[in-house]
Amino acid sequence: MEYLTPPPWHAAIWQRLCAMQDDGRLPHALLLSGPHGVGKQQLADALVARTLCRRPGVSACGECHSCRMLAAGYHPDLLRVAPADNRRQIRIDPIREVNAFVAQTAQQGGARVIVLQPAEAMNVAAGNALLKSLEEPGERTLFILLADIPSRMLATIRSRCQHWALGIPDRAQSLAWLNETLGEVQDGDFWLRVAGGLPLLAADMAGGEARGLRQDLQELFDSLVRGGEPIAEAARLDRQAVERILWYGIAWLEDLIRLGLSGDIDQLRNPDLLPLYRQAVKNARLRDWFRLLDYAREQQRLLIAGGNPNPQLVLEAWLVRWSALLRS
Ligand SMILES: [Zn+2]
Repeated sequence: MEYLTPPPWHAAIWQRLCAMQDDGRLPHALLLSGPHGVGKQQLADALVARTLCRRPGVSACGECHSCRMLAAGYHPDLLRVAPADNRRQIRIDPIREVNAFVAQTAQQGGARVIVLQPAEAMNVAAGNALLKSLEEPGERTLFILLADIPSRMLATIRSRCQHWALGIPDRAQSLAWLNETLGEVQDGDFWLRVAGGLPLLAADMAGGEARGLRQDLQELFDSLVRGGEPIAEAARLDRQAVERILWYGIAWLEDLIRLGLSGDIDQLRNPDLLPLYRQAVKNARLRDWFRLLDYAREQQRLLIAGGNPNPQLVLEAWLVRWSALLRS
């Protein structure tokens, strides 16, 4: 069962976590941070399973009563907290549930685990409500907090967790895994580069629908370079994909800036876009690309933070700015 073991590039950190757990040295609150697609979730899932397992070995056994409950999708001693549907924030109500959960004894007589994701989505009231449980969690309780950008968490929460920052994994390991995952597609190298070295993100992007989005955006970029009308182009985009669209926009801007600064095409994450980049760098100055990059990152931050901007307006404003630079 895949979720019982973490992805291969987390093997070293996994060994350390397991050794600490076996020696009773694992702190009761862990913060796993790292970019989206680095495999935080998979590492956390494996640790959840091993913590709840009654006969853990190198990983959870997959066969005991506890493992079977987990596999069936419900375990009474596991509580997962995430933003409610259509919301970006984790508010105080689910944290009150966490506090009640921590106050009970474990139903299976073993450990209790609380997974909070994304931890930076907790609003201030929720964060403050969680503090007491983090400080005095009671016996055999493990909090696992996951965050893409831990600096956006309340400092008081962060300081009460042991922080494990997961960086870009080893390229050879990632590529081996990706080629196996993508199977016959065989362009793992390209997608790993596009995804900035993040294997799970690469696998996701190379999948059918996501691959189509990149193709659409490439055509849109091409159209804007040739003077296309940005509002009309924005209307054709799927507003649900706004975060991914901004993600691509940011990656492409970073490429443009790399090209503008060094001219080194080996550093490009999207080498297939070089002809478009060449056209684009003719039209605008480096500092304008930097400004557009700042703008895109701010929009991305607002979307993630739940400032609740209208996705259609975000897309329009974004494409209008792109297009203005490409035409200038
Ligand atoms: Zn088990």
